[in-house]
Amino acid sequence: MYRRPIFAANWKMNKGPSDTESFVKSFLSKLTGRQTSDIVIAAPFIALPTLSEALRDARGVEMAAQNCSQFDDGAYTGEISVKMLREILVRHVIIGHSERRSIFGETNAVINAKMKKAREAGLKLIFCIGETLEERNAGQLESILRSQITEGLDGITPSDMEDTVVAYEPVWAIGTGVTATAEQAQEAHAFVRSVISDLYGPEVAGKLRIQYGGSVKPNNAAELMACPDIDGALIGGASLDAQSFVDIISNGSPAN
Ligand code: PEP
Repeated sequence: MYRRPIFAANWKMNKGPSDTESFVKSFLSKLTGRQTSDIVIAAPFIALPTLSEALRDARGVEMAAQNCSQFDDGAYTGEISVKMLREILVRHVIIGHSERRSIFGETNAVINAKMKKAREAGLKLIFCIGETLEERNAGQLESILRSQITEGLDGITPSDMEDTVVAYEPVWAIGTGVTATAEQAQEAHAFVRSVISDLYGPEVAGKLRIQYGGSVKPNNAAELMACPDIDGALIGGASLDAQSFVDIISNGSPAN
């Protein structure tokens, strides 16, 4: 089954409004030709209005938030609701990134609550999962992925899945310069798709786009994207530089 790849930049806590504006100018000037992949940029909340304005005439490049609250509104100091994200025209939200899990203590239950809240607001999900090195070395890769998927997607319907991308990001490969080999990544992606098939059936699983994330660079994008179950990438460090993000997209995308 054909799945259009999706490349998403995750800037994390980098780039405020003025850096965002100059990045987009440079990025769009380098991004030439007809795109064969979807492109998303996840900027810090404070830079999203600037990103929206800078992308106004850029067809095919959409914005994402990196997080959202599981609550509607009220006394939640420091939080941003899905309604607020919609108000500034955000289309996608990253949920369950390993940094949210490990640094901010987000459990599968919290992540699931955010997923449901985001879907209620019509946001598209980029749902991150992945094992630590200790879990992989202890032979727990499949059980960890299965529980992250099953608990994270609880109550997410088959039609919600049409607006969901899963990002498989082995924690040991994020920001470390160590990339999973194409074989390791393909094996994990095929497993993720099989779990989705158990939960939703083969049709939903066959359509689901599964991104790889973890030290994707211009020089490894093509090999990773050639794997049959890898449908794009979530890119941290290498997405901060416009040329390198463009090169990843062009090296990893199908020919025109
Ligand atoms: C990420 O933060 O989602 C990520 C994959 O980071 P990096 O590309 O820097 O490993």
